[in-house]
Amino acid sequence: MNPTESLQLTAPGTEFDSVQKAGLAAVGIGVACLFAAFAGTANFVALFWISMLAINGGALLYFFRTFRGPAGVRNDGVTQSPWTARGAFSWMLGITFTAFYCLLYWVPGSMDNLVTATEGFSEVLRGRAADKWFVYGLFYSLAVGVMGVRAILKYRHSRYHIIRTLSVVFFQVGFGFIIPGILQLLNEPEFYFHYFWPLKFDYLWPNNVNYIMTQPGALGTFMVFWGAMMAVIATPVLTYFYGKRWYCSWVCGCGALAETAGDSYRHLSDKSLKAWKFERWSVHLALVIVTVGTAMLWINSYLLGGLLGSFSNNFAQFYGFVFGLVWAGVIGVGFYPIMGTRVWCRFGCPMAAILGLIQRYYSRFRITTNGGQCISCGNCSKYCEMGIDVRWYAQRGQSIVRASCVGCGMCATVCPRGVLKLENGPLEGRFAEPGSIVVALEELDILDVE
Ligand code: SF4
Ligand code: SF4
Repeated sequence: MNPTESLQLTAPGTEFDSVQKAGLAAVGIGVACLFAAFAGTANFVALFWISMLAINGGALLYFFRTFRGPAGVRNDGVTQSPWTARGAFSWMLGITFTAFYCLLYWVPGSMDNLVTATEGFSEVLRGRAADKWFVYGLFYSLAVGVMGVRAILKYRHSRYHIIRTLSVVFFQVGFGFIIPGILQLLNEPEFYFHYFWPLKFDYLWPNNVNYIMTQPGALGTFMVFWGAMMAVIATPVLTYFYGKRWYCSWVCGCGALAETAGDSYRHLSDKSLKAWKFERWSVHLALVIVTVGTAMLWINSYLLGGLLGSFSNNFAQFYGFVFGLVWAGVIGVGFYPIMGTRVWCRFGCPMAAILGLIQRYYSRFRITTNGGQCISCGNCSKYCEMGIDVRWYAQRGQSIVRASCVGCGMCATVCPRGVLKLENGPLEGRFAEPGSIVVALEELDILDVE
């Protein structure tokens, strides 16, 4: 994109009708109101709720109008728009998101006006005063909900995408926002039933387990049981049957944001071999750090602090800072418009690492390819948010059994020839389908796969 194009507001040739313009104008007014509320101008509480109404209502109006034509994937102008092709507005969005995360994490008091604006809602839902995490949860859930509507409209010809999107919206809004609020209303621990160790790394750490178990009533004990059972039993069993998609593309809140709000940026993932190599190191290193850290904390607890002493607190803070704040938030979400949507899932998530290992070596999931039909257009590779060069496999008629694949199904959806199919089948023959070039070369002792 040349510098002149990068300063245009839309992709070349894009025209909006009056309804789309009205929707976009409402979003613009809403954003201005939100900034005014953030700055604490007069009537900032009213301005905050007007901004929520205008941004979300305007966006919905725009989406319903934009996707009203015949069903089918439309990614018109995605590589030319300054909003989605690393143009000036992509950078502006990236910097704005990143600045938001920096303020949220490291500037005490910066969210005070937004917190005050949500006091009433927090009292109703949680029976307690709002805080900055309540505001964040509200923004996050609204983003997933509204952009989830967009995803359903855009991919309404695909049953897989409709159900998958409904699922992530349900888990984010229900399990990630409403249920934790109701638990607090009932004076129970704030608990997220859709997050498990090692993603929610501290759920199986001794101090948290002790805290939850000592809460009055049986619910605390159930929470610990639930977290341990999901991490140790349900995760491997479900991944064996369905691959990591059951979690990464159907349940997880990080995946929910990526699949809805991040849909326009999935093509920005780095497809290079260098990125694949870095991914294998970084994501497994994260898993090793969490696993070793968790084991050491339990040994330390058993020895009454004799192993780590006060270092256990430092470890918790270090991990929470590097992985929870910097990687998952500032880089993982802030840089959506520049680096694509799954930066955290791909390079830093320990849950993705463990799911990926099971998916790669002991799962029925694979994407089968009908190589003879492939015209090498490259759509599948382009829209793979995990940076997998799907075409490389399709051209060879080879099944895709990659640890990082989150089973979003987008490669199959954008393929114009119906080459790709997400399947759960027997373990045997996953790596190369009978009759493929790979098998032929293996039989001739020219190639040795696995
Ligand atoms: S290979 Fe296909 S299903 Fe897997 S992450 Fe990439 S686009 Fe999604
Ligand atoms: S999108 Fe389909 S036809 Fe195009 S390269 Fe991928 S598998 Fe081949």
